[in-house]
Amino acid sequence: MMDNIIEINNLRKIYSNGNEALKGININIERGKFFGLLGPNGAGKTTTIGILTGLINLTSGNVKVDGLDVLKDYKKTRKMIGLSPQEINLDVFFTIKELLVFQGGYYGLSLKESKKRVDNILKDLGLGDKINSKVRELSGGMKRRVQIAKALIHDPEIIILDEPTAGVDIELRHYLWDSLRDMNINENKTLLLTTHYIEEAEILCDEVAIIDDGEIIAQ
Ligand code: ADP
Repeated sequence: MMDNIIEINNLRKIYSNGNEALKGININIERGKFFGLLGPNGAGKTTTIGILTGLINLTSGNVKVDGLDVLKDYKKTRKMIGLSPQEINLDVFFTIKELLVFQGGYYGLSLKESKKRVDNILKDLGLGDKINSKVRELSGGMKRRVQIAKALIHDPEIIILDEPTAGVDIELRHYLWDSLRDMNINENKTLLLTTHYIEEAEILCDEVAIIDDGEIIAQ
């Protein structure tokens, strides 16, 4: 039997202005896979991720994370997921360390636990020497990595990355690809990545679903 950690069944989303963003999509993601959701702008990728992570209300259908319904068991399902959203939303007046320790607190990590994880995560993402830098002092590529670090602080089993390499230069893109692959292979994390770069999906993903205009057109 397949061990699906994410199951999306007949998912529809109609926004309040009448936009039908998802027209009844089905996606199953096996535990431990690196899964890509590939599609053009406006296809419904961010909406799908928003519903998975509890940021957007679904219209009909259901979504399960590790067998649990994302509406009924939202506390458990949200804890299992780390999300790196497309738009960078970091408080620029904090240091990276402060920011990540706070984030750990939201997930119930002790100060000691958070600090230890911050050191390791930043080292893995090549930001070890920036731990005490304020976010406003960082380059765009560094901010993107801090955004990813925020998603990792509570050691989630599932890591969801919405367009993680949009606007990132080639060198950093390759570095991020290596880091993500490492999380998948060496730490056994399930990764869900959205992208509109077909090359990125090809290089990283075990499996890819192509979404267009609210429908899965190929998997
Ligand atoms: P993608 O992430 O693939 O670029 P989105 O999920 O952001 O696509 O958008 C899918 C569709 O839903 C688009 O037509 C978009 O305009 C629409 N949409 C997204 N957010 C909203 C919203 N808050 N209200 C109305 N329509 C929205």
